[in-house]
Amino acid sequence: MKTLAEKPSKNIAYAHKNGYEIISAAEAKLMEAFNKLYLDFLSDSKTEREAHDKGVNLLEASGFKDLVKFENGRIKLAPGDRVYKSCAGKTLMAVIIGKKPLEAGMHIVGAHTDAPRIDIKQNPLYENGDMALLDTHYYGGIKKYQWVTIPLALHGVFVKPNGKTITITIGEDPSDPVLCITDLLPHLSADQNKKTLSEGIEGENLDVIVGSVPVSEKSRKEKIKHNILQLLHDKYGVTEEDFLSAELELVPAGRPREAGLDRSMILGYGQDDRVCAYAGLKALVDIKGIPEYTASVLLCDKEEIGSVGATGMASNFFENTSAELLNLTTDSYNELTLKRALNNSWMISADVNALFDPLYASVSEKKNSAILNHGVCLSKYGGSRGKSGSSDASAEFVAEIRRIFDKAGVIWQTGELGKVDQGGGGTIAWLMARYGMHVVDCGVGLLSMHSPMELAGKLDIFMAYKAYLAFLKDGRK
Ligand code: MN
Ligand code: MN
Repeated sequence: MKTLAEKPSKNIAYAHKNGYEIISAAEAKLMEAFNKLYLDFLSDSKTEREAHDKGVNLLEASGFKDLVKFENGRIKLAPGDRVYKSCAGKTLMAVIIGKKPLEAGMHIVGAHTDAPRIDIKQNPLYENGDMALLDTHYYGGIKKYQWVTIPLALHGVFVKPNGKTITITIGEDPSDPVLCITDLLPHLSADQNKKTLSEGIEGENLDVIVGSVPVSEKSRKEKIKHNILQLLHDKYGVTEEDFLSAELELVPAGRPREAGLDRSMILGYGQDDRVCAYAGLKALVDIKGIPEYTASVLLCDKEEIGSVGATGMASNFFENTSAELLNLTTDSYNELTLKRALNNSWMISADVNALFDPLYASVSEKKNSAILNHGVCLSKYGGSRGKSGSSDASAEFVAEIRRIFDKAGVIWQTGELGKVDQGGGGTIAWLMARYGMHVVDCGVGLLSMHSPMELAGKLDIFMAYKAYLAFLKDGRK
């Protein structure tokens, strides 16, 4: 007679695995090829403007046309048509018109292309201690001590009152000079060392040194500052007053790199959230044929400071662009149909999550934390302290996503950002959920998020692409 313990049972336990134990050799090749393309995109997209421009290049090369050209309504859009709409050169919405009418809803992947950085103030240039410096105001949630004593590049635009835009990039070409913010030497840091990590470097002390050579004119005051102005004037034709209408951003200089002795990771600046932005955009352009539902990718600005402003997700840009699409795909536009189109949409809020870090294990609850290279990370909810501020996706919608991902062979896991009451984070999910659409967060896990050098797993990056591609093109049950 068999004892109870010997009775064979079906394995019904759940555990996710390292993706390298699952991925086929053929797919691993595709993964490496995808990551090469991603490295180039990340390298060339150090600001939201640059990510937007690279995005437009990729879209146009893949047959997408500027929606503005259709807005007079003379030519309607048909299933399979590929269009994009830009918002102020920073935010971007791209769509492929689906077989079903827009009223049935869209499948949307929404990511953001702004990243924490150090912005130059409006009146920034000054001289002190025989050095010229630019005053700054940091952007987004940074740990300030990470941004000193590293090579920085200056990216951005000066816009003249006559509308002329001068674009600058200094510090990326190996022959360029770089810029740097100083820190105190250990020998004189007795007071600084007593401060907390967040107070050790003050926001007003994140000023960057830009020069130290004086002009030779005897009568000139602030000779070093003047020399910098002269250099800028000679090279770019700008004056000190032109800083007033400029957007200049300091970002870590240099290309992102493969990381690890096994080259399994990518180390680089701005992967939050350009990794999901690129994966989403590439998925959209790679769709073959006509998707069932209108497939849409949103790359938005200002997520890191609350999605506010005309180029942030809280603006009406998405809704207005959806209205244009409806107008161009139906004979009679009406607001009710637009509301239905938005309400019936499905969305993946494509943003990064935190990976389990063995050096800081205490902030995570391991079985609900994303693990490096265990696949793209799906988060039913975010928020903090009792899920506050979370756009909690419904079990029904998560089940639909499971079906789509599993059918497409996506390697994926779930992950929650930190353990309960440790902190938390938000994305653009809640802003889209206001329309009544289903939204869930799904993106790549990162180590050192918001630092000058964020680390991500190549397998997770490739799986984000596969996940977004499946979601954008897949029909519903
Ligand atoms: Mn993000
Ligand atoms: Mn972020």
